[in-house]
Amino acid sequence: MKKHYDFLAIGGGSGGIASANRAASHGAKCAVIEKGPLGGTCVNVGCVPKKVMWYASEVAATLHEAKDYGFSLDSVSLDWAALVERRQAYIKRLNGIYTNTLSNNGIDTIIGTAKFIDNKTIRVGDDDISADHIVIATGGYPTVPDVPGAELGITSDGFFALTEQPKRVAVMGAGYIAVELAGMLNGLGSETHLFIRKQTFLRTFDSMLGENLRQAMVTQGLAVHSEHVPTALEENNGTITIHFDGKTSQSGFDAVIWAVGRAPATNNLGLENTSIKTDARGYIPCDDFQNTNVKGVYSIGDVCGRDQLTPVAIAAGRRLSSRLFNQQPELHLDYHNIPTVVFSHPPIGTVGLTEQAAIAEHGEANVKVYHSSFKPMITALAAPESRIASAMKLVTAGKDEKIVGCHIIGEGADEMLQGFAVAIKMGARKADFDDTVAIHPTSAEELVTMK
Ligand code: FAD
Ligand code: NDP
Repeated sequence: MKKHYDFLAIGGGSGGIASANRAASHGAKCAVIEKGPLGGTCVNVGCVPKKVMWYASEVAATLHEAKDYGFSLDSVSLDWAALVERRQAYIKRLNGIYTNTLSNNGIDTIIGTAKFIDNKTIRVGDDDISADHIVIATGGYPTVPDVPGAELGITSDGFFALTEQPKRVAVMGAGYIAVELAGMLNGLGSETHLFIRKQTFLRTFDSMLGENLRQAMVTQGLAVHSEHVPTALEENNGTITIHFDGKTSQSGFDAVIWAVGRAPATNNLGLENTSIKTDARGYIPCDDFQNTNVKGVYSIGDVCGRDQLTPVAIAAGRRLSSRLFNQQPELHLDYHNIPTVVFSHPPIGTVGLTEQAAIAEHGEANVKVYHSSFKPMITALAAPESRIASAMKLVTAGKDEKIVGCHIIGEGADEMLQGFAVAIKMGARKADFDDTVAIHPTSAEELVTMK
């Protein structure tokens, strides 16, 4: 069977669904091709199950803090299997909502694996589908290093499939996923070891954030091992031993989680039958308007290889569709000042330039930095040694001290950042922050009272 659409999204994840819904709202005849559950990485093995587990771990922390406030709780325990079952039921509901929304918007959902057979035709099973506009939104998948025994470990996908809580777990990696998974496993009571191959983690973030998170992790009993490059995994009496640099080893883990990065899902897409270009790592580069090198073919979301975040995929997809079908020829996503949160314990919120990047861009003499570090009031009644600090940094540039970076770690940072990101996107200066009356007593007030 042959079918033709105005707009076709390959991938029913954050970007594909958002772009198709927006195109359909402008009257385009649309289809989405998806080989797995609708919602993609974010809904099924990313943001959503991750945030549920993060909340679970926050609840555990609150139970721990309850005694500081005079509560006496009888022994509490976690039923991991029940938590996972409820989480998955929630995800199933979301999958259903996506199916219904696409159908209510008159969009065809085509179940199967898409393969290009030429620049403008895609084969799914026995069907050939073409479209005036094709958006590639196939996302990515977690990578595993090429070391002996690597298959004994799992990835973030495997973490979400765990029906039993690991007692002793090793997390390998130094990015978002590594610190998030290590933090929540530790918070939920697993003996957790984070192995990083350099001195520090979150190296692309402002260094203040990684330094403070590390202190918090240590206070919370999470073991962080620097300069440990994994070279092999080995099974030993039902547990896993990790070898590092062929010299040292650590044993007795019942789970090892690889969190060492992701790769684009472009290898089985039939790109060899097209003239669509990929870069050396397989990503499909695009210009500011999401155009690939082939006219009428676009790439959005993780497959582009930049700012791999759900709201970025959604925003790029919606703007692309409005550009194509709503006479807004200049509409495109501005990739500057994208706010992001790392759901660590405590969370990190960050937007704009790191101090180091600001100095490189504006010159040291033109950059002024404001700091604040304090113990948030929620910890006021806790034993001094268990109180986790919050820290904030504003990076300003130029004579008028325009805020070019805002970096927060601490209680509430995750919910605090969004509003400040609006101000920064609008070009706020330090004087505008100072001119805003503080809300007391909160942690956020520190951002408008820094000296
Ligand atoms: P995806 O959502 O990955 O969708 C791609 C879809 O394409 C998939 O459903 C896939 O099955 C389908 N597909 C691939 N190839 C084919 C094919 N050939 N034919 C048919 N279908 C195909 N981002 C945040 O903003 N906040 C977070 O808190 C956050 N947490 C995360 C936690 C984890 C553990 C992970 C892994 C990611 C997280 N992310 C988070 C990132 C976020 O999930 C991604 O940026 C987002 O899902 C990208 O959307 P996308 O549309 O580009 O791709
Ligand atoms: P990242 O690319 O962010 O981090 C992976 C890190 O692991 C590397 O930077 C590297 O750090 C380290 N690493 C790489 N190879 C090895 C190795 N062989 N052995 C040990 N360590 C290694 O990838 P993630 O998988 O953490 O996340 C992918 C993307 O998903 C993120 O960049 C983000 O865009 C998105 N995401 C967003 C979240 C959110 O919004 N909260 C949450 C989760 C994911 P180094 O060089 O320092 O060793």
